[in-house]
Amino acid sequence: MTEVSDDLGVLRSAIGGPVFGPGDTGYDEARSIWNGDIDRRPICVARCTSAGDVGSALGFARDRELEVSIRGGGHAYSGTSVSEGGMMIDLSAMNHTSVEPETGMARVGGGATMAHLDAATQAHGLAVTGGVISHTGVGGLTLGGGMGWLTRLAGLSIDNLESAEVVLADGSVVRASDDEHPELFWALRGGGGNFGVVTEFEYRLHPVGPEVNLGLFFWSLDDGAAALHVCEEFIPTLPARAGCLIAAGMCAPPEPFVPEQFRGMPGHALIIAGYSSAAEHAATVAPVRDALAPLFEFVTPIHYTGLQQMLDGAAPWGILGYEKALDLDALTDEVIAVIVERAPRKSSPLSFMPIFRLDGAFTAVGEDDTAFGGARTPHYVCNITGMSDAPEVFAADRAWTRSIWEALRPLSSNQGSYVNFMAEPDEDRVRAAYGPGKYDRLAAVKAQYDPDNTFHLNANIRPA
Ligand SMILES: Cc1cc2nc3c(=O)[nH]c(=O)nc-3n(C[C@H](O)[C@H](O)[C@H](O)COP(=O)(O)OP(=O)(O)OC[C@H]3O[C@@H](n4cnc5c(N)ncnc54)[C@H](O)[C@@H]3O)c2cc1C
Repeated sequence: MTEVSDDLGVLRSAIGGPVFGPGDTGYDEARSIWNGDIDRRPICVARCTSAGDVGSALGFARDRELEVSIRGGGHAYSGTSVSEGGMMIDLSAMNHTSVEPETGMARVGGGATMAHLDAATQAHGLAVTGGVISHTGVGGLTLGGGMGWLTRLAGLSIDNLESAEVVLADGSVVRASDDEHPELFWALRGGGGNFGVVTEFEYRLHPVGPEVNLGLFFWSLDDGAAALHVCEEFIPTLPARAGCLIAAGMCAPPEPFVPEQFRGMPGHALIIAGYSSAAEHAATVAPVRDALAPLFEFVTPIHYTGLQQMLDGAAPWGILGYEKALDLDALTDEVIAVIVERAPRKSSPLSFMPIFRLDGAFTAVGEDDTAFGGARTPHYVCNITGMSDAPEVFAADRAWTRSIWEALRPLSSNQGSYVNFMAEPDEDRVRAAYGPGKYDRLAAVKAQYDPDNTFHLNANIRPA
């Protein structure tokens, strides 16, 4: 370790961006990631500014047998973007965006966040599917799949990926698309960071916003079962130009639209985003209110970028975080009983269960067209998220997360679920997420492009 520290000058002269070693100003900031529960000390952080930098950093690591981690937005619960004693390849400076409104395409650096991407595309009234928290990186998000408000309208982020520039383990740079390295391109769309470092993503965009419509309905815990039944009946009837998220066990935020007496109160929310006119949106959401009167509601026009940032405060940078997820075909009576009984047992006001709906355009893509882990049939991805800034409260909610996951397991259609929702990406769950056919195909691609498993700090695919 000391030898490599002495050697960092070689790396500094090889790459355009800064290199941080222990003791350097900026080292602690550079190694910190979203999940405050992860505190690892890499031997160096190489902040790359180009594909060439990434190749040089990989060569430096290879020659010194350093474990390599890749940091996009630094948002993974698992903390796989930072390793103890290894080298972090930090892409955060590679956050360029360029949009071609005539062709409806965007090129985005591998270290950009959703906020960078949304700002650039919304300048032209365009958007592509991404996550619901704007400080999430497009890198890890896209490579695992990428789901959010636009999934029903436009599919996953990967369903809109046209090509990617990739630095392979040997430092060579390739473009992956349907025409070039097609098997690599297939694997990148769902197979995570297993195959190389993506320095640029090229997306197809959709006309969305700048103004869209929000409908948020919040019910008390006492009304939990009835509220979740309303969600189950209503969501499949949503029009194509709408998205939704269930926030089970969420505490009402301290926002002006929440009546004072309900602020901080735990309950269950259904949030609907509409991309048509305000009048159509009002007609779309009316049946929710009619089916079960909420404690409060918030139906309003909102800028698309505002929608994308609306939940940022619910998952602040540096919080201690843990999550597990599983797929559910439906919110059956049994599923609802588990959620209604157990969600209220959380200890932290920040912990809750974001439940994503995958249908609409998501189901128009074939099962084997991408490497996404999970069926292309309509279903829910049920996430259980424990978050707190107090270690003892966090420990309680980590146990809460695990206990709900265990209780829902027998009711789940895929206990592996979405690879991006794994605080602990163990091999069994990764294999379960993809299923044997897809896993084997991914393992074959891995054997071709990363036979030595250089990129193993992720939801890892073992080379065939
Ligand atoms: C609060 C919160 C909310 C979230 N909400 C959503 C959501 O709404 N929708 C959703 O789909 N997901 C969501 N996620 C999950 C998110 O997609 C993953 O955590 C994802 O890994 C984040 O990407 P990142 O680049 O920020 O992560 P990082 O921690 O930087 O990277 C995670 C892994 O991705 C790989 N990686 C990242 N960038 C690259 C790259 N450019 N090239 C190669 N490999 C790379 C590496 O293997 C790395 O270990 C959420 C996560 C959190 C913590």
